Amino acid sequence: MINHNLKIYNTLSGKKEKFSPIKKKKVNIFVCGVTVFDFSHIGHARTYIVFDSFVKYLKQVGFSVFYLQNITDLDDKIIARSQEKEVEPKSLATAFTKEYLKDMKVLGVDSVTKYAKATSYIKEIINQIEKLFKKGYAYKLEDGIYYDISKFKNYGKLSGRTILGAEDAVSRIDYSRNKRNRGDFCLWKFRQEETEPSWSSPFGKGRPGWHIEDTAITEKFFGPQYDIHGGGRDLIFPHHEAEISQMEAISGKRPLVRYWMHTGFLTIDGQKMSKSLGNFMTISDFLKRNSRQQLRFLILKNLWHSPFDYSESVMIEVRASLEKIEEFLRKLNDIKTIKSTDKNLKKLFEKSEKDFYRELDDDFNTPRAFAVLFDLIKETNKFIDKDLVSKSQAKEIYNFFEKIDKIFGIIDFKKTKNKKIPVAIKKLIDEREKYRQQQNWLKSDEIRLELEKKGYLVEDTKAGQIVKNI
Ligand SMILES: [Zn+2]
Repeated sequence: MINHNLKIYNTLSGKKEKFSPIKKKKVNIFVCGVTVFDFSHIGHARTYIVFDSFVKYLKQVGFSVFYLQNITDLDDKIIARSQEKEVEPKSLATAFTKEYLKDMKVLGVDSVTKYAKATSYIKEIINQIEKLFKKGYAYKLEDGIYYDISKFKNYGKLSGRTILGAEDAVSRIDYSRNKRNRGDFCLWKFRQEETEPSWSSPFGKGRPGWHIEDTAITEKFFGPQYDIHGGGRDLIFPHHEAEISQMEAISGKRPLVRYWMHTGFLTIDGQKMSKSLGNFMTISDFLKRNSRQQLRFLILKNLWHSPFDYSESVMIEVRASLEKIEEFLRKLNDIKTIKSTDKNLKKLFEKSEKDFYRELDDDFNTPRAFAVLFDLIKETNKFIDKDLVSKSQAKEIYNFFEKIDKIFGIIDFKKTKNKKIPVAIKKLIDEREKYRQQQNWLKSDEIRLELEKKGYLVEDTKAGQIVKNI
């Protein structure tokens, strides 16, 4: 029995902290979803694979998890793109929601409990804005309802910015010249054109601003406080700062979220991914050349909140590492020895198991956990070469890899079972065995070459021949 003491790096404190959810063994986690106006790229894949894996890990160590994710199915970007393409915003959003969910399925991201589309929670959104009005945080301008950040005492506690510092917001700033503070953000945008999707509200016909959908959705499912909020680093400011300002102002309860987890940036050949640089890589393009397991391993071999750089040469390493695991599992599958396992291997395996979980418990450190696995492989191989591994021990180690892969999804188990060897090949192997026993190396080498030509690799070990289908 392993005792798990979890620690997580929290953006809010800038430190690793002991993880203790509001309700001991139950975790409520919300992760910002995509705005469905285009295909998802491998930067998205990073965030969603990290949280998928993290949630699966939480479940494996005994938590019950409600994983909530929103889908922004209406905003400025969607409207702009739908005008470009001359389609309805709704049909554009529906099409790209489908694409997104398809990508996630292919990637094996299947731990999300509930996907919540923003436009399904308009009632809750209006309700929150009304409360902000009543409490004096919201004000009305010609183009919409705004949030006055100078009214919120704790503004900037997540991003470390001041109200003045809010001026260098780069992403999705809501612009009106008449705002009280430049960092004020829009809660409700009045309808500009007849054709724009809009809803009636006590403040006028319009649609929600971007930040308010998240707090409306999380309050609906989790209430005013919950355990973990995740997303990409780029969302810390102003998006997540705005969420805190909204919900803590409404409820008067602090903090909205106990642990803020932000995934690090992913760059390509040292550069930020962008359409203008031509290095924009969609998930489906990436998967034309690589498997889902390779993408998941590429992402998880980096610490979740560290930046990492993608390049073709990294993929060579990724493939080699995964082949190493698969080859090892094939070897384990092949072990027929009945006699008992060397005591030292037993000890080594027990220690590896503990070390592995200790690394994950410490800030979900997947690269260090993988290092434990590769050490275990290296050391066990030494015992296998000396024929000191019993069938039952081999099975135990194999099962351990099966269990931990429920967290990662990096192993293609189809490749870990040895294929059936045809009768004609078996005959050659048996023939070779005879020559080996007669120490007729010339003949046995001849047959080895013949087998290789037919696609079977022969290795001579103390325990006899090992034949692999290559
Ligand atoms: Zn969000």
